Amino acid sequence: MEVPIHLLQKYDVPVPRYTSYPTVLNWDKDINEDKWKTFFINRFNDYNEKEGISIYIHLPFCEKLCTFCGCNRKISNTHDVEEEYVEVLLKEWRLYRQLMPQKPVLKELHIGGGTPTFFSPSNLKRIFEHIFKEATIPDNHEFSFEGHPNNTTYEHLNQLFELGFNRVSFGMQDSNVEIQKVINRIQPQENVEKVVKWAREIGYDSVNLDLVYGLPLQTIDRMQKTIQDALKIKPDRIAFYSYAHVPWTSKVQRLFDENDLPKAEEKILLYQLGRKLFTQNGYQDIGMDHFALPNDLMVRTRNAGKLHRNFMGYTVQQTGLLIGLGVSSISDIYDAFAQNEKTINDYYARVYAGKLPIFKGYFLSTTDKAMRKYILNIACHGKTIFQKEDLETLEAFVFPELEKLAADQLILWSKNGLEVTALGLHFLRNICRPFDLKSTELRENKNTFSKAI
Ligand code: SF4
Repeated sequence: MEVPIHLLQKYDVPVPRYTSYPTVLNWDKDINEDKWKTFFINRFNDYNEKEGISIYIHLPFCEKLCTFCGCNRKISNTHDVEEEYVEVLLKEWRLYRQLMPQKPVLKELHIGGGTPTFFSPSNLKRIFEHIFKEATIPDNHEFSFEGHPNNTTYEHLNQLFELGFNRVSFGMQDSNVEIQKVINRIQPQENVEKVVKWAREIGYDSVNLDLVYGLPLQTIDRMQKTIQDALKIKPDRIAFYSYAHVPWTSKVQRLFDENDLPKAEEKILLYQLGRKLFTQNGYQDIGMDHFALPNDLMVRTRNAGKLHRNFMGYTVQQTGLLIGLGVSSISDIYDAFAQNEKTINDYYARVYAGKLPIFKGYFLSTTDKAMRKYILNIACHGKTIFQKEDLETLEAFVFPELEKLAADQLILWSKNGLEVTALGLHFLRNICRPFDLKSTELRENKNTFSKAI
């Protein structure tokens, strides 16, 4: 389906990706650690055996700074930094482990960064052997990591596979050398092909490639070539991210000339091209930038109505709680969120003092939980049913916005519920937005979030 340009233009407004609701910007500036621990223990006791738990680990170091980067990362010329980081990370894990009366059932694990493959295979082994020795790993676990094509070795892939990792994601971004120079990420396409080949030889169930549209110097022709290069590899999943230009929060993005960025209309054409080529080549649109082959677990899970979404993005596992370990990581225990200290020094200082390194967070109200449920239902299943007890709030704040979305044929809705149309699938973030009662910044349309396209 060709998406009308005028709708892409109309809905290209700042809007969150809704990996949490309320979004981080609405959280309190500090968090009561004792209250967090009590909530954590209660949630763990209720859900560990029933649903298992998830862990996200942030490994922040990178060898070089990419100028498009929006992540929490630390550039390091030396690998000496690995040892202390591993030590502190495991100390943090032990602080959480002390709160668990039984062995955690570890169903889902993701390592992100930064560059997780900055760390040596032996240091990665040290982290996971330590965590796994006091955890139960069910057969249907999903363990994944992000690998940099320039420094992922066969040994990395083999080591993590032996530890139980079954999914890997590589940041391909763009295969054009001119663009790679501007984003300071020279990455020969052979490197991408090589690491994917290794991952398949070793036996990984699923390989994802990240591509980015909207980068400086990107044109339709260059984007087409990049997508063709990616399709040649036939990854099981593709994340086709919009470059989020937020120089007010990510200063590194000031290092290239803003005039080199594609204009808003050009960026929309890049998105349209990508979507067309992926779907023509057999990929299914999962929503919110993600595409996958029909036999991939992500598609099967979505078709079974069991897809979930959390800080790691779309996930095939729904677990009772998510523990974020490492600098800037976020934990989600359903009733509350907490974020770790964002600088390595602050993170180390709190863990060395024997404290959980959380510095901000949010305890959800009943209304927050109701709105989060609607947002998750729309993002993961494309539909939701409205509950009677929420009708007063929905009528006051949400329904007037839904009428506008329905007028553009993005949704079908009544007072009973809402269903996203095929056209609306392209605008999931915008359809979630009316349920976001917290983001006053959003309502005022300030430049807080990246744009939807
Ligand atoms: S884009 Fe990835 S590899 Fe590049 S600086 Fe950011 S975190 Fe590091």
